[in-house]
Amino acid sequence: MSKVALVPCGSYDDAVNAVKTALDLIGGVDTILGKEEKLLLKPNFLAKCPPEKACTTHPEVFRGVAKYLQEKGYNNLSYGDSPGHGDTRAIAKECGVGAVADELKIPLADFTAGKSTPYPDGISANEFVISNGVLECDGIVNICKMKSHMLERITGAQKNIFGCVFGLNKGASHVKYPNATEFAKMLADLNLMLRPRLHIMDGVVAMEGNGPQSGTPRNVGVILASTDSIALDTLFASLVYLDPKLVPTNVIGGERGVGESDINKIEVITPSKTLTVAEAQAQYGIKDFDVYRGMEDKGEISYLKPFKNLIKRKPKIKKELCVACGICVKSCPVPGGALHFKKNGKPPVYDYKKCIECYCCQEMCPKKAIYAYQNPIVKTISKIKF
Ligand code: SF4
Ligand code: SF4
Repeated sequence: MSKVALVPCGSYDDAVNAVKTALDLIGGVDTILGKEEKLLLKPNFLAKCPPEKACTTHPEVFRGVAKYLQEKGYNNLSYGDSPGHGDTRAIAKECGVGAVADELKIPLADFTAGKSTPYPDGISANEFVISNGVLECDGIVNICKMKSHMLERITGAQKNIFGCVFGLNKGASHVKYPNATEFAKMLADLNLMLRPRLHIMDGVVAMEGNGPQSGTPRNVGVILASTDSIALDTLFASLVYLDPKLVPTNVIGGERGVGESDINKIEVITPSKTLTVAEAQAQYGIKDFDVYRGMEDKGEISYLKPFKNLIKRKPKIKKELCVACGICVKSCPVPGGALHFKKNGKPPVYDYKKCIECYCCQEMCPKKAIYAYQNPIVKTISKIKF
């Protein structure tokens, strides 16, 4: 059985205590981490956003993990993440984690460069360009954020490790692994290569809707912790009433042995008692959490395949929100780009024939101007379980 701690936490004022309780509930860290080891605290630094946007790991959750480790004698800590766009130090400052790290005297690891690193055991990917800060550490403590995601439906523990890949190489991965399934296979290889030891999820205020950057903050009120990223992400999916089998990272991560994806083999330990995933969902879940629950990727409506182009979601720009900054154009990993400016000062225009629907542009837009469009009739039909 895999164990995931779930600690109710209604406010970030209580996050430090909630993290401590969660880590105690999974049995502490003594058997997972060595005191002599260099440990990298890996938050989610997707973009330069203040904490109330719920885009990045909240500084109080970071504080909870860092203080817990320091109080237990783990003093060789560093922190950092490689964002898809922008500078790690500037993002750390804006999201509040930088100030907490300075206060606790935890240095920023080197995320200014990376090295090509072979992974001969990889099935989908046998080489990654890994950030120096990751290569220099002995173990990763993953402090992820509970968010919706356009490509993989949710982004949690397993997906957060993608931030160990250096800078623009992340975009190139989207071209190489151009759909949710192929991308999830690559992520499984990356997680098996780096083997993060511990995962703590900030689910106090999650992001729903147009995540992982442009969504809406939503109180879920939980801190989750586990040594098993797939079990943790499976519980996350269940808590937001998304069938974990619709999440490629969970399914493939389970198949590849990254962790446990079978809800019947996951125990949820709360401060009062141990629950099944179904019981935790009934007690702590949020039925109307805004996440993509369409069934078509699961094959339930495979007879609609001839209408694939009509059915599939595609990125679209809300013209009234676009400021023509060009970040989306620069973020597009497709050679030659799949969206371009056609007129000065106007929003860029998509070339859907070239677009691979990786949603890098949507992920990086600072103005919440890009969303996943789907024909409204198809959207309704796709929610029906045939
Ligand atoms: S869609 Fe967003 S990222 Fe692209 S140009 Fe407009 S505001 Fe900038
Ligand atoms: S246009 Fe956007 S979704 Fe399409 S390939 Fe480029 S970044 Fe990905």
